[in-house]
Amino acid sequence: MAFNIFKKKEESAFPLPERTSTDKEELFCYGFDASSLQGEPSALVKPVNTDEVSQVVAFANKQRTPIVPRGAGTGMTGGAVPVKDAIILSLDGMNRILEIDEKNMIAVVEPGVINGHLQEKLEERGLFYPPDPASMSFCTLGGNVAENAGGPRAVKYGVTRDYVLGLEVVLPDGRVMMTGGKTYKNVVGYDLTRLIVGSEGTLGVVTKIFLKILPLPEETMTLLCTYSHLNDAAMTVNGITSAGIIPRTLEFMDHESILAVENYKSYGLPADAEALLLIEVDGSHNAALEDTGKIASICNALNGSVSIAEDMFAKQRIWEARRAISPALYRIKPTKINEDIVVPRGKIPEMLNELKGISEKYNVKIVNFGHAGDGNIHVNIMTDKHDKEEYDRAGKAVEDIFKATIKLNGTISGEHGIGLTKKQYIGMELSATTIEVMKAVKKAFDPNGIMNPGKMFPNF
Ligand SMILES: Cc1cc2nc3c(=O)[nH]c(=O)nc-3n(C[C@H](O)[C@H](O)[C@H](O)COP(=O)(O)OP(=O)(O)OC[C@H]3O[C@@H](n4cnc5c(N)ncnc54)[C@H](O)[C@@H]3O)c2cc1C
Repeated sequence: MAFNIFKKKEESAFPLPERTSTDKEELFCYGFDASSLQGEPSALVKPVNTDEVSQVVAFANKQRTPIVPRGAGTGMTGGAVPVKDAIILSLDGMNRILEIDEKNMIAVVEPGVINGHLQEKLEERGLFYPPDPASMSFCTLGGNVAENAGGPRAVKYGVTRDYVLGLEVVLPDGRVMMTGGKTYKNVVGYDLTRLIVGSEGTLGVVTKIFLKILPLPEETMTLLCTYSHLNDAAMTVNGITSAGIIPRTLEFMDHESILAVENYKSYGLPADAEALLLIEVDGSHNAALEDTGKIASICNALNGSVSIAEDMFAKQRIWEARRAISPALYRIKPTKINEDIVVPRGKIPEMLNELKGISEKYNVKIVNFGHAGDGNIHVNIMTDKHDKEEYDRAGKAVEDIFKATIKLNGTISGEHGIGLTKKQYIGMELSATTIEVMKAVKKAFDPNGIMNPGKMFPNF
């Protein structure tokens, strides 16, 4: 449906003209996300409070106009990419930390707060919010809730879902709904909080978030362990977890990702290593020291070469290198097809073998890194979308990767969601009955189908 808010103005005045733009250049900037897909919205609206969100959504519902909630646009699967003529509802103006309640260990935030900004404010007070997507310095907490974002610390502390106690949500008809709240326990009625978390903006607009927070651990120690053989690194992951140690992070980089990062900016990673593990432990000083010693022995026993970061500067440098992988990969090829599969942790060596085979079969470069501690591998097929023949081969490789993942009892997405890029594959993992129930939930929330349509399900 073609939509022009100014043509329809006489019939039904647009609620927030002063916060609305139809400027072509601005619309272009809000038309894509990190998936590199591009859409053409008809308008951009930047509300600053819940009432304004509600007015815009109610208007869109009456006009049957698609509405796409948007945080920072760092999503990897096209979730914030608008269908044609949609209104982009940007939440970046709702960026206040409303409350840090130390007594009850709760933070209340608006959806446009940047994850890293909350982390800094909490750390100043000796507090801690664990979910740490690699995009934390620029992604929003609203986007984190909508995608159920994870990060390296998920192996010990869990993902966004594990910290959301309650939500304020504007429903697709403009009504405002509260789920959960300020208590750590709540079993009154269906758990709508958990339903909204990970719903990718398809059920409503999150306007307020109640988060559980923790005390900041006394000590954090960081180890870098490099290997000449990939399999030794994979065996180390199993060795650490089966020794009963739960590190705070257990990250993995393969040779190609190490090389890409070193070519991007010299961080001092050993460019000849076949694989590396970035391991962090935390807790009391003594506990962290003890775990560090045990982990170093396991790494050494499996032919790893261990170094321990001596100061904050060294730690930060290692993490900078880890967070540089995504941009660094574009030096290899201009297009990156990024998948975030998860397999049961013990199946990582088998999955890496499958990936090697798929790379050879389709003659495409595949670079792997990720959260080895929870079996989450970021698989990057490096290609060029203008080279049609190679791009088609890369597409076929994706299908084989998902087949292999499911064969190993894994899932096709651990943290990036389905959005546009994976919707044609959802039936590989979910049964027809499960998809039917999900679609019925969507219909119950959004009978007119205006809330971020075209995402998650094929032909819906
Ligand atoms: C370099 C890089 C590294 C990354 N690393 C990680 C990682 O380690 N772990 C991880 O999980 N992800 C990672 N991501 C992906 C991305 O950062 C996360 O998915 C993040 O949660 C998206 O937040 P955003 O604010 O950018 O949301 P957007 O991209 O703007 O939106 C994402 C989805 O959320 C919906 N949405 C946004 N705000 C709201 C709201 N208030 N109410 C309802 N729906 C909303 C949108 O409609 C869309 O469907 C990475 C991305 C990049 C570019």
